[in-house]
Amino acid sequence: MGTFLFNSIVFGPVKSRRLGVSLGINLLPTNQKICSFDCIYCECGWTNSMTTSDFPSASQVELSLESKLIAMKESGELPDVITFAGNGEPTLHPEFPIIIDNTIALRNMYCPSAKIAVLSNSTLIQNINIFNSLLKVDQNILKLDSVFPETIEILNQPLFKVDISGLIDNLKRFSGRCTIQTLFVKGSFRGKTIDNTTDTEVNAWLKAIQKIKPKDVMIYTIARETPTDTLHKIPLPTLLVIARKVERIGIKTQVSG
Ligand code: SF4
Repeated sequence: MGTFLFNSIVFGPVKSRRLGVSLGINLLPTNQKICSFDCIYCECGWTNSMTTSDFPSASQVELSLESKLIAMKESGELPDVITFAGNGEPTLHPEFPIIIDNTIALRNMYCPSAKIAVLSNSTLIQNINIFNSLLKVDQNILKLDSVFPETIEILNQPLFKVDISGLIDNLKRFSGRCTIQTLFVKGSFRGKTIDNTTDTEVNAWLKAIQKIKPKDVMIYTIARETPTDTLHKIPLPTLLVIARKVERIGIKTQVSG
């Protein structure tokens, strides 16, 4: 299928469905995806590894971002948000805390009104250095697609065992300074049915959301090609029904259909 990789450290700006005018930062190599998950819906294709010797250095990231911000400032179009995303999980970068500090300094220098966002799969938030760095940024967008281990096994295919109750406790530790991102999808994979929109799935997920008390929730579905062709988009009305349930427990929800 037609999945793709970002071919640079800094990419865009792009008009993001969820974030506005977003300047992207890819901390992963440009020739492979590096992630601790292997989500069956990942737009970057399948995961081969969760580590590499090919990460760009913190100083390469800093130089690339600074030259892009200078060019954007000169052309009078600065980003609404600087977003860590790209070819995998950004918090796997061994210099992630330094890179966050450098990015905050550059943002303050060139575009102080821009937010800094990190899209993460939440698998490293138990690491105190990662946690503390994430607390420094404006928007932590943390993945929680299901609270059932068997669903996570199929949908996210973690490269190690995920302890769901530990994960929920760690998300609670953000004390509301996080956004939960959940991708809803249905279909099948390797002979198993997948559907995280069932009442059982959504009710258990809502209970976790109630415990975590995030600032808000982002609900979305597949929008581009996925590595397997056995998945289906969730119709917008179904996403809106789920969003209303989240709103009923007092948490703002953003839907991208
Ligand atoms: S966590 Fe994100 S980058 Fe990693 S496999 Fe899933 S969708 Fe892809």
